[in-house]
Amino acid sequence: MSFKNLGLSEPILKALSHKGYKDPTPIQEKSIPAILEGKDVMASAQTGTGKTASFTLPILNILSHPKNDHKGHHVRALIITPTRELAAQVRENVLTYGSNLDLRSTAIYGGARIHNQQLKLKKGVDILVATPGRLLDLYNQKSVNFNKVEILVLDEADQMLDMGFIHDIKKIISLLPEKRQNLMFTATFSNSFRKLANELVDNPTEISVTSDNETAANVDHYVHPVDKSRKAELLIELIETENWKQALVFTRTKHGADRLTKQLLKVDIKAAAIHGNKTQNNRMKALDSFKNNRIRILVATDVAARGIDIPNMQQVINFDVPTVAKDYVHRIGRTGRAGKFGKAISLVSADEFNLLQDIERLLEQTLDRKIIDGFEPDHSIPVTNHEVAKKKVNNQRGFKKRFNSRRRR
Ligand code: AMP
Repeated sequence: MSFKNLGLSEPILKALSHKGYKDPTPIQEKSIPAILEGKDVMASAQTGTGKTASFTLPILNILSHPKNDHKGHHVRALIITPTRELAAQVRENVLTYGSNLDLRSTAIYGGARIHNQQLKLKKGVDILVATPGRLLDLYNQKSVNFNKVEILVLDEADQMLDMGFIHDIKKIISLLPEKRQNLMFTATFSNSFRKLANELVDNPTEISVTSDNETAANVDHYVHPVDKSRKAELLIELIETENWKQALVFTRTKHGADRLTKQLLKVDIKAAAIHGNKTQNNRMKALDSFKNNRIRILVATDVAARGIDIPNMQQVINFDVPTVAKDYVHRIGRTGRAGKFGKAISLVSADEFNLLQDIERLLEQTLDRKIIDGFEPDHSIPVTNHEVAKKKVNNQRGFKKRFNSRRRR
């Protein structure tokens, strides 16, 4: 299957070939024709699958004929994302794929000056990428008009629900014209996602290219049992002895991310942290430095990293085991992309065994325990009993729900 067969116009095909894309990814192959036909779509696909292009390409195609006159503050396609980084990233994709088209786009999000965003909206935009809070602020200030919205996209919808954006999203939807095309993208078809989808989409095409417990086959997963107090020391040892060019390291908390970053910098390992307490500018700068190899280690919390296009990583490290087993799958999705080989390494202390067990049950796999010489833990990590797996995994869903309603990272 080539992009040509999907029904995309010549200027878009040219941009894709300039970008070096040869064939569509599975999510693109399924989504693009359905969206071009004007159908509502709900798709489950994680970052790294080519999800962004699967909605930006057909939107560009649809909006490029006939052209908008740009008068007033009208918006024709509205793409809502949970985080600032993702909004900026989606806008970048729109610019890249639409480089041969005469369409206007902008991204608006909190943490950046509202005045500049108002000026851009004044000129009129065809495609507006926005985070929910800032979008409503600008709407309330009458800087944006939704009367001509033809297409609505909710990107990373499950994360938006996790982050408590449901009221903002419902408010935004209530302001849009009733007749419009709805596209919902999510990492997983969670119950809360389905509930929202039921209210929103009309006889949708349902597309799924991932499953909750799927990780790439070309990723080597293992666990280093270690005492909690020696995790940073062990990480430094691994970075040095295994000579990692770069690694993405996950911590559970913002504070933990900052602390670890300081410890790495102290031994001259170039590192930066991204998490919710960092300014927008700081987060963008860290990400940019990482992408351009100016820093070696990026330390991230789950929410800050989710949805962000971090290029294929050879190593993804769980400095802390995630409290929600599914987050393990999201984290590990950063390695082993496009068939490349990757390592998923978890530093596990004895108090995290229960969390590790949840993950192993979700994956239906026991991860190899590899003790590093000189880092033998005081307490060993038992082997997971998979016999009671089903019951536990079911319980965990309830736990996730309760946990998410409290979670603000
Ligand atoms: P996404 O899942 O949208 O974050 O995309 C992940 C990465 O895949 C991005 O760096 C895209 O530029 C890249 N990508 C998207 N579609 C294709 C394609 N058809 N061929 C090659 N790379 C792609």
